[in-house]
Amino acid sequence: MSTPLQTYLSDTAPENVNPAFVSYIAALQQVAQTAPEIAASVVKELAAQRSHLKLIASENYCSLAVQAAMGNLLTDKYAEGYPAHRYYGGCNNIDDVETAAAEEAKALFGAQHAYVQPHSGADANLVAYWAILSAKVEASVLAELGETNLSKLTDEQWESLRQKLGNQRLMGLDYYSGGHLTHGYRQNVSARMFVSRSYTVNRETGLLDYDEIEKQALEFKPLILLAGYSAYPRAINFRRFREIADKCGAVLMVDMAHFAGLVAGKVFTGDEDPVKWADVVTTTTHKTLRGPRGAIILCRSEFAEYVNKGCPLVLGGPLAHVMAAKAVAFKEARTQGYQDYAHRMQANARALAAECQALGLKLQTGGTDNHLMLIDIAATHGLTGRQGEAAMFECGITLNRNSLPFDPNGAWWTSGLRVGTPAVTTLGMGAAEMKEIAAIIKLVLDGTKPALTDKGTPARGKIVIDENVKAQAKERVSALLGRFVLYPELDLGFLTRHFAQ
Ligand SMILES: *Cc1c(COP(=O)(O)O)cnc(C)c1O
Repeated sequence: MSTPLQTYLSDTAPENVNPAFVSYIAALQQVAQTAPEIAASVVKELAAQRSHLKLIASENYCSLAVQAAMGNLLTDKYAEGYPAHRYYGGCNNIDDVETAAAEEAKALFGAQHAYVQPHSGADANLVAYWAILSAKVEASVLAELGETNLSKLTDEQWESLRQKLGNQRLMGLDYYSGGHLTHGYRQNVSARMFVSRSYTVNRETGLLDYDEIEKQALEFKPLILLAGYSAYPRAINFRRFREIADKCGAVLMVDMAHFAGLVAGKVFTGDEDPVKWADVVTTTTHKTLRGPRGAIILCRSEFAEYVNKGCPLVLGGPLAHVMAAKAVAFKEARTQGYQDYAHRMQANARALAAECQALGLKLQTGGTDNHLMLIDIAATHGLTGRQGEAAMFECGITLNRNSLPFDPNGAWWTSGLRVGTPAVTTLGMGAAEMKEIAAIIKLVLDGTKPALTDKGTPARGKIVIDENVKAQAKERVSALLGRFVLYPELDLGFLTRHFAQ
């Protein structure tokens, strides 16, 4: 019996053989020999991604080159430490990989220093917090004691340092206003290690109120003033944040996990470029940046030695295969093609927002400056975010519900839908498609009602969708996706027949 790869090669004229597809088949074949169910899941996920319109603002599609850089023997190597300072032998090649990724990141963002090890955005924030604590609290305690070696502190000295580290202040945006869990939310370790106080957006406008933030910061005097969010649709004035941080003596940290692609692609420049103004910047690499799942930290030279100690301070051994994929992604992001992508992602978001509003939907802050928007569906349709999310999924659209500032429906049910353009822009969609997507969203919302509970009151989770609306929406989604195919190099029919049946 011939293998899938042999079948493909014997059925395909040599000039039509697609190397990217060959390597996918070869890899899946290898996996399937041991774990056919895992190979099947990979293929089924491709089918799922191809058949749903992805409007999740935090997701994207990375290139096949990025994927290839991740799937290899680099995963085998331990390399605790950082380039040229490892706790393991034989790390020369890993040093090269990590150095290349860091140099690419520095060049891409114009940063003084880059640390490319963090495994996720949450990890990057923890490393950043502890690096800032090391630089601003621990270093001065050690200087006072005239000691450089932590192991030589007495138990009393160590305990006093520990108390100091655990009593510092963090000020970030409230979770409901679009801040991230890791910015001092009580369910996250950040609120447990810091005395945390959050600022909010303005209740009427939904916008950041810099004067109000300044007032609060001067009163609270945080060690770390944190900006950069997960669900804020507007540009941020980082020059103004720098001013506030300087006035209250805080370290300015920015978490650009969501909009890093717009910074890399030179959409956000000047006052809107956080790397120019902040002391420490963290970002994921898998959202708008379109790289592998992971994160990095950029910082001023002053913080470099502390950030470099992320492993062992916070992190386990670095993922060399992911650092390799980061290097590939950063090289891609330094091209004109990526800059065009970033500008189209923003233009698409603006077009989609304008269309949604023209159709009568209500947008938080009345629009967007970046790659995402928040639709208040409680206001226009009496639906919770959870109901809207479920309705969209039934009609072939994946997006996520999101709380709105001061959300009366809380963090679980929510009142909003978060909609983003990174993935559809990667597929090549433009203004005409944004118009169609807005129309489909409106159609689905109009055709969805809360189901009634046993008591006859509207349920907060369950829905009833008009069957005609559902059929029509699904058809329009699949017509769109039929014109913009994800990873066209991959023949889904072939993969399904050989691995997922
Ligand atoms: C997504 C996100 C993170 C977390 O990233 P993970 O890789 O999921 O840990 C952190 N901060 C912000 C602002 C984010 O949007």
